[in-house]
Amino acid sequence: MTNPPAHAPSLWAATAPAGPETLPLQGERTADCIVIGGGYTGLSTALHLAGAGKDVVVLEAAALGWGASGRNNGQVIPTLSRADPSDLMTRFGREKGLAMSGVVRDSAALVFDLIRRHGIECEAVQNGWIQPAHSPGRFHLAQRRAKQWAELGAPASAIPKADLDARLGSTYWHGGWINPTGGHINPLAYARGLGGAAMRAGASVHERSPAVRLERRGDRWRVETPSGAVTAEWVVLATGAYSDDLWPGYRQTVIPVRSYQMATAPISDNLRKSIVPGNEAVSDTHGDLYFFRWTAQGRLVTGGALFSYIADESRLRRRIGARLQRLFPQLGEVKFDHVWHGFIGATTDRIPHLHLLAPGLLGWIGCNGRGVAFATIMGRVMAEAVAGRPVADAPWPATRIEPISGHGLARQLARGMLLLYRWNDRKEWRAPA
Ligand SMILES: Cc1cc2nc3c(=O)[nH]c(=O)nc-3n(C[C@H](O)[C@H](O)[C@H](O)COP(=O)(O)OP(=O)(O)OC[C@H]3O[C@@H](n4cnc5c(N)ncnc54)[C@H](O)[C@@H]3O)c2cc1C
Repeated sequence: MTNPPAHAPSLWAATAPAGPETLPLQGERTADCIVIGGGYTGLSTALHLAGAGKDVVVLEAAALGWGASGRNNGQVIPTLSRADPSDLMTRFGREKGLAMSGVVRDSAALVFDLIRRHGIECEAVQNGWIQPAHSPGRFHLAQRRAKQWAELGAPASAIPKADLDARLGSTYWHGGWINPTGGHINPLAYARGLGGAAMRAGASVHERSPAVRLERRGDRWRVETPSGAVTAEWVVLATGAYSDDLWPGYRQTVIPVRSYQMATAPISDNLRKSIVPGNEAVSDTHGDLYFFRWTAQGRLVTGGALFSYIADESRLRRRIGARLQRLFPQLGEVKFDHVWHGFIGATTDRIPHLHLLAPGLLGWIGCNGRGVAFATIMGRVMAEAVAGRPVADAPWPATRIEPISGHGLARQLARGMLLLYRWNDRKEWRAPA
């Protein structure tokens, strides 16, 4: 038995139950579908395909949940980061926009359904996701958002300021909205649990098996790893922001944005009762997002973006600690036990993209920071396509890839965008009356 490589240190690496045991791919074999990448996208695709009786092989370069799926905040959010249903309908037409909105609306519910159905132990809490508004203008937006989602059948509703203050234990925001289908999970535990469920359903899962070559041979794809190869009619590229150069130009369709996550030391029960006592997941309307949620051990997990990698995290600890104290003065001094980071794939239009890269080669990329629920449901969408649903009938439109020109420079500019967001946040913010 070969152990998967250790995950980078994080709260999740320290607390998630062990994943299923897997072996690197050895030798030649055939399958119906090869999935490259062992995060939520790849594992959900594999679970849904195996459940439909398909022979599926997952190749993960490192370990299950090695990428964003094992490093994120664990907020299960049934919205995109920016585009609302009305935006999708304006851009893609009413029919497609409605179908796309349906995918997003159902995404969080699917995560918790899978967790229940497959008995995945991942500290799942489906108490809702709240988006508080940091200015009066953003509260109007929050009200419009809640109305749009409610019209599409989501159990969403606006939360007036007085109610929100009580729900969050803070007077900082102007009101907000909630979708009760959301919540939070231990993200690495969820990834490992999905992997175990996919294997029980019949999928072959191989960690330490990087796909190093992808080529078309006749009407099939052949994917090579250092110690084996698989041939199949379909390949699903599930490598997200951790994509390499396996498919030319794919990596360059998103800008990888580094996001820091940090977990406080456990907080006393008394204080805990005064901060988000309903245990919802919370992420607000700032461009440079404020987000936080409790863990089962009574830690707050929050974080923030930085311009670049830092070896010394003390400035980040001070900045985010001071922010938490501003939001929740009752907290007093804040101590962080764990700090880690990961990459988010950002698209220039802030909408995730589904690509039919070539006949029988599918992938989606560009979560823009909202991918726990979305990756899970896109795994189902891609599994349906592999199982025979024409890609043109998929609820998400499949487009050609458009590598971002001057990708290296765009990465630098993205850092400048963060400054712009912060400037805009400061301009917009109003202290509640
Ligand atoms: C710090 C952070 C916080 C976030 N917080 C949230 C949140 O709270 N809520 C939310 O909704 N979303 C959040 N996200 C986004 C969410 O985590 C991602 O959208 C989601 O995990 C993407 O899953 P994935 O399976 O598509 O990609 P990943 O989980 O990144 O998986 C890709 C996998 O592909 C593998 N791979 C790459 N190349 C190869 C190859 N050649 N061969 C084999 N394997 C390969 C990698 O090793 C990796 O394991 C966050 C992301 C980050 C980084």
